[in-house]
Amino acid sequence: MSFTNFHGHTHYCDGKGTAAEYADAAIAQGMPVYGFSTHAPLPYEVLWTMKEEEAEKYVAEVAQAKEKYKDLIQIYTGLEVDYIPETAGPGHECIQKLGLDYTIGSVHFVDFFPNGHPWEIDGQHTLFLEGLQQIFKGDIQQAIKRYYALIRKMVQEDPPDIVGHLDKIKIQSEDGNLFSEEADWYRDAVEETLQAIQARGLIVEVNTRGMYKKKTIDPYPGPWVLERMRTLDIPIMLNSDAHHPREIIACFEETAKLLLDIGYNHCRILLNGKWQDVAFTIKGIDYASS
Ligand SMILES: [Zn+2]
Ligand SMILES: [Zn+2]
Repeated sequence: MSFTNFHGHTHYCDGKGTAAEYADAAIAQGMPVYGFSTHAPLPYEVLWTMKEEEAEKYVAEVAQAKEKYKDLIQIYTGLEVDYIPETAGPGHECIQKLGLDYTIGSVHFVDFFPNGHPWEIDGQHTLFLEGLQQIFKGDIQQAIKRYYALIRKMVQEDPPDIVGHLDKIKIQSEDGNLFSEEADWYRDAVEETLQAIQARGLIVEVNTRGMYKKKTIDPYPGPWVLERMRTLDIPIMLNSDAHHPREIIACFEETAKLLLDIGYNHCRILLNGKWQDVAFTIKGIDYASS
C-alpha cells in the first residue's frame, strides 16, 4: 500500500528537483500514480512562480518523465493556478493551451498594495500586516471575508479540478491573535464557501504542508472544516504540496488517521486516466478498490 500526491512543485518554480527526481521518489514509495503541479506563471514579479516562457518546457519535462517511467508509474501533468479575477485562473487561455491533465486552483493574493504589488496571504507576516493596514485599514474581518469571497468566485466562475489549501490564511493568526476561527463571521464565510464547492462538485485537497513546515498543527483545511465537508459529502484528496522530493508524503499517516476519525475513508484521484474514488487507510490507498 502507498499514498499518492497530486500537489507537487518542481525546479520550474520555488520547488527543488527535476520531474525525474520526484518520479524516482514516488516510485521508491511504491506509488502507482503521481501528479505534478508547479506554480503557474503570473503577470507580476513573483519569485515563487514559473516564468511564462518556461511553461512549455515544464510540460515537456513532465512528459519525458511520464514516458521514461511508463512501466513503473502513471504520471499526470497539472499546475497550481492562482485565481485573480480577470487576470489569472484555471480557464485562462495560457493555462488551457498547455493541455493539462488537471488544475489546482489557489488564492494566494487577495488584493494589491497602493504601489501595485500583490498582497500575499501566505508570505511574511509583517508584509501581511502592512497590507492589512494599507488596503483594509486594519479590518481583518473584511480581509478574510474577501479571501473566501475570491475562492467562491473562482469556484463559481473559473473552477479548477481541485481547490488548493482552502483555509491557508489561518497561518497569519497563529494563536488566534488576529481572528478566531470560532467567530460567527468566520464560520459563515467558510460555510458559504463549502456550499459553493459542494454545488460545483469540486475536490478539496487536504494539504499537509503547514504541518511538516511547523506552521500549523493541522492540515489545510483544519478538522472542524473537514467535519463539515464530510457532512456535505465533498470529495477530498490528500496532498503534501511538496517542494522537495523528500516531502511527497510528509505527515500523511497522521492526516489519514484524522480523516478516518472524521469519517472519510475514500479520496478522489486520477487513476487510469479518470477521476476515481479509492479507499484509504493510515497505510495508504487501496488502489484495487476503484
Ligand atoms: Zn499554494
Ligand atoms: Zn503549492
